[in-house]
Amino acid sequence: MRRSRFPWILAGILLFSLAAWGVTGLVLAAVGSGAAWYASLRLHPRIRHRACRGTGEVRGSVFTWTFRKCPRCSGGRLIRWGAGQWGAPHIRAENARGRRARAKARQERTSR
Ligand SMILES: [Zn+2]
Repeated sequence: MRRSRFPWILAGILLFSLAAWGVTGLVLAAVGSGAAWYASLRLHPRIRHRACRGTGEVRGSVFTWTFRKCPRCSGGRLIRWGAGQWGAPHIRAENARGRRARAKARQERTSR
């Protein structure tokens, strides 16, 4: 499914479960969706950085063939928020390391 449709599909599933099986159905659907989301975090812990469209480049507006490195991701890739919190240990460690390194580079203006 597409990311833009996901909230609507989730809301539809939860509403349908509530209508069909009452509060118990709603709780079961929520637990099931949560489990699917957790499995997804483990299987696919990364996303493309949307601001740079996964390119890892911030293009110049005058000399458009030039770019600097995107300071907010690593080469266009990011670790999903949930995976950084509850993902596999090596993903969590990589997330913390990357965030710290990018923050330091921005502060010291060495991210370019
Ligand atoms: Zn980026």
